[in-house]
Amino acid sequence: MNKASITDYKYLEGTKVLLRDDLNVPINKNGVISDDKKIIEALPTIKFLIEKGAKVIIVSHLGRPKGKVMPEYSLQPVVEKLKELLDMPILFEKELFSEHMQKMLRTMKNGDVMVLENIRFYEEEEQNDEEFAKKLADIADIYCNDAFGTAHRAHASIAAITKFIPSYCGLLMTKEVEVFSGLIENPNRPFVVILGGAKVSDKIKLISNLIDKVDCILIGGAMAYTFLAAQGYNVGASKVDESKIEYAKLLLEKAENKKVKIGLPVDHLVAKEFSFLAEYDVCSTERFPEGGIGMDIGPKTIRLYTKLINQAKTAYWNGPMGVFEYKRFSKGTRAIAKAMAQNPNQMIVGGGDSAAAVRSYGYEPDFYFVSTGGGASLAMLEGEELPGLVNLKDKE
Ligand code: AMP
Repeated sequence: MNKASITDYKYLEGTKVLLRDDLNVPINKNGVISDDKKIIEALPTIKFLIEKGAKVIIVSHLGRPKGKVMPEYSLQPVVEKLKELLDMPILFEKELFSEHMQKMLRTMKNGDVMVLENIRFYEEEEQNDEEFAKKLADIADIYCNDAFGTAHRAHASIAAITKFIPSYCGLLMTKEVEVFSGLIENPNRPFVVILGGAKVSDKIKLISNLIDKVDCILIGGAMAYTFLAAQGYNVGASKVDESKIEYAKLLLEKAENKKVKIGLPVDHLVAKEFSFLAEYDVCSTERFPEGGIGMDIGPKTIRLYTKLINQAKTAYWNGPMGVFEYKRFSKGTRAIAKAMAQNPNQMIVGGGDSAAAVRSYGYEPDFYFVSTGGGASLAMLEGEELPGLVNLKDKE
């Protein structure tokens, strides 16, 4: 990594550090955090700064409040969790740039931690507003970006801010970037990528870029139906992104020319309705019933994909193979997690639903790496520059 790490900065004692974390954890209706991975992964940098006697000011977003104050997106539950995990009091400032905030900043002692309320309560954040970023930068002496999960977003507290304050890389950011840079530069082969989920538009460009880099791409989830439709199959009432069918055709051609295998499901769990109690049949791709909804990959596809994952020296997975939130349609997702967990090579899962699935099935310790970033890890694999990384100080 050619970026300066926060550990390279020698004068942390008494220094106000604005630490951009991604503490965007899922919180249920009762205010309970259902997966605290992002908080746990943020701890090493926070602890490092506390030990060095810095005054730590944490900035994060939570959910998509779209520039409005929405109590359900308050960082309060995250602050409570941090208190528990760090076993120390944490200051929580609800109003950015207020008199109260200025007073708290003046009275902070070395090693204190203050969390600022959800930065996305301010519309300037997602607009990458420079004036807002400058005001934010003025709060602190230096800036540290440890928010890998959101490093692909050009937002004020991620991108614009780096123009106004010396900017360093956090420990988690360094770890994540090193894993994905290695993956792009020199993967052990065969290199298999497994893609699922619902949003074809998020991942289709990735496929195009990956065709030059990988040996095999296995597709599942709703994504698969756009590709099967592109091959001319009837996919019933399955979720298809009509606007991407032509592009999917081009991709399939490109893959064939480059001799890269694109795996598509050969069978499916097909339901008559989209519901967690829906009855289903196992149907082959050739015999997809009229009006049926593909909810998960079928047993033959599981065997096929498992075999290819077993042979992989490197694999990256992003996106569930089916509607895994419904137990009866979670078999495909669970099988991919299991196959990867049993492979001792470089098995990597990227953020979001698939990483949460790996954790909930108890396979996380068996993985080479579970990333905190779905979109960010995809962006890195696509070879994109991350706005949250490019403008950080270079190593001296
Ligand atoms: P994404 O955010 O693109 O990774 O998509 C994740 C979502 O895809 C999950 O909520 C899944 O329920 C959904 N999904 C996966 N497979 C299917 C499918 N066959 N039909 C509809 N939704 C699906």
